[in-house]
Amino acid sequence: MTQDKTTELEQIKADIERDGVTPHLKATATQLVFGAGSPEAEIVFIGEAPGKNEDLQGEPFVGAAGKFLNEMLASIGLERKDVYITNIVKYRPPENRDPTPEEIAEFQPYLKRQLGVIRPKLVAFLGRHSMNVFLPELRISQAHGQPVRKGGQVYLPLFHPAAALYNGGMRETLLQDFSLIPAILKKIG
Ligand code: URA
Repeated sequence: MTQDKTTELEQIKADIERDGVTPHLKATATQLVFGAGSPEAEIVFIGEAPGKNEDLQGEPFVGAAGKFLNEMLASIGLERKDVYITNIVKYRPPENRDPTPEEIAEFQPYLKRQLGVIRPKLVAFLGRHSMNVFLPELRISQAHGQPVRKGGQVYLPLFHPAAALYNGGMRETLLQDFSLIPAILKKIG
């Protein structure tokens, strides 16, 4: 089962390379940052795009924001290997600029296939960019911490962990929102 899912995920990764998604980003990036964690995860976290450290290491959320993400996971008794972490855009945009709507759209079919393989109970968005791919009508300032069911999938909007690095209040809000995750998972069943 896990082997099947791993193989399917490898295929999606290979398809991104084969299809030449966002060639301009590929040209400046070190490598594709596809995703990391368990293909059997109950929760998938989706961030924005790889930064410098992620680009160098080939794994999402390994820099300062990732360190805080690890802390938040630990606060609810989880480790990175228990969840799956990915981004809406899988090559680092130059100078860490925001991904463009076109770049996000190019990666969207592959992201949806990734979720289709893992079939998590809960999809948690790290920041407004990833939330807006799935729930364009929502505003993160109002929607954070509140699960939304849409098309048979439960989603949880969260602030981006990088926001907490510059804002202490945001740190508490994120930890508070994370603390709701076990009960949300239990309720989904
Ligand atoms: N920020 C993101 O959105 N994704 C990463 O992988 C790292 C930082």
